[in-house]
Amino acid sequence: MTLDQALRQRLDERRRRNLYREVKTLDSVPSPLFKLGAREILAFSSNDYLGLAIHPEVIAAQKAGAEQGAGATASHLVNGHLKIHQQLQQRLAEVTGREAALVFSSGYMANVGTLCALLGRADNIISDKLNHASLIDGARLCGANSLRFPHSDLKGLHRQLQRAAGHGGNTLVAVDGVYSMDGDQAPLIEIAGLCREHGAWLLVDEAHGFGVMGSEQFPLAGSCAAAGLDQSQVPVIMGTLGKAAGNAGAFVAGSRVLIDYLVQFARPYIYTTGMPPAVAAGSIAAVELMCRKPELTRRLEENIAHFRQRAAQLNLPLADSSTAIQPLVLGCEEKVMSVSAELERRGFLVGAIRPPTVPAGTARLRITLSALHTYSQINALLDELVSVLQENTAVHS
Ligand SMILES: *Cc1c(COP(=O)(O)O)cnc(C)c1O
Repeated sequence: MTLDQALRQRLDERRRRNLYREVKTLDSVPSPLFKLGAREILAFSSNDYLGLAIHPEVIAAQKAGAEQGAGATASHLVNGHLKIHQQLQQRLAEVTGREAALVFSSGYMANVGTLCALLGRADNIISDKLNHASLIDGARLCGANSLRFPHSDLKGLHRQLQRAAGHGGNTLVAVDGVYSMDGDQAPLIEIAGLCREHGAWLLVDEAHGFGVMGSEQFPLAGSCAAAGLDQSQVPVIMGTLGKAAGNAGAFVAGSRVLIDYLVQFARPYIYTTGMPPAVAAGSIAAVELMCRKPELTRRLEENIAHFRQRAAQLNLPLADSSTAIQPLVLGCEEKVMSVSAELERRGFLVGAIRPPTVPAGTARLRITLSALHTYSQINALLDELVSVLQENTAVHS
């Protein structure tokens, strides 16, 4: 069999199971209105929770940043590190209440790089079963004894901490602060308590917490700050710049020594070209806007509350999420695909999420909210959703 024949077989199998994915080509970023061909579509699918991807100040800063050079020209350690990167790292450390921060080209690389730098074969990594793919891949690649516990199950975590103690070595617990496909939050206070009891290190992925939640002192820092946990309780946090910051790239924040160590040992930091200066400049502008405009987060929170209230009135089966990620679990792949396609025909884009991104039997619409949505746009989505779901059920019963 030739390579293409072998691949075609696997692709056909994927199509047969309703798992084939298509790339949509848009004319502009969906924040939240965009053109698809001649049609205007309203998106409830992006992670640009505050609308910063299209904010004029961010775009102006990013253009000005490009004046320093389109690309960084080398890795950070060779000659790809500029003052603008240093400034971004400094700001990220300040707003997260950490001693230091290190930028990576993506959150995927930050997670893989950090886990592989911190852990080896003698160690243990304990993960929540619904952790993001980048943490799962990092857990595999680092070669440590990999243990998993059922989603947010503290008894399960406790059992795995005991098993890890039997194995010896260091133990790191890795969880998402906010789960990317479910929108629910990890029980961080209890998890941090268990880690302390067992002498385990804790890494929290703040991809969906950074910029939209925090404490009074650190309103942008994410879910750890919101839970009242600081650097001593959560020594490693990872945040992305591609979600609420509306840009690209990511960072790890923690103690000075953690960051010094990652510079030496995190291979996805070392062996890749530095972040483009423009991205660093745009990200700084986004962080400044987050600090200066708390009304953006407030608008997002109001939209989340409005969405949930209205959806409950319409008897839609809401998930247990108080974040911008509001999934509607439909179960079967075919239903998710037909409902999302019909919604798109009616002018609404929502995420259609299928295995292996989520467990089998839990295919879902992933609806995300932004500070830029209006109540009437949210109402319109929900009304169409109810109508499409009714028609879909009628057809299949
Ligand atoms: C998006 C995401 C990442 C990866 O971040 P990128 O910067 O997009 O690579 C990591 N963890 C979680 C929970 C995410 O949702």
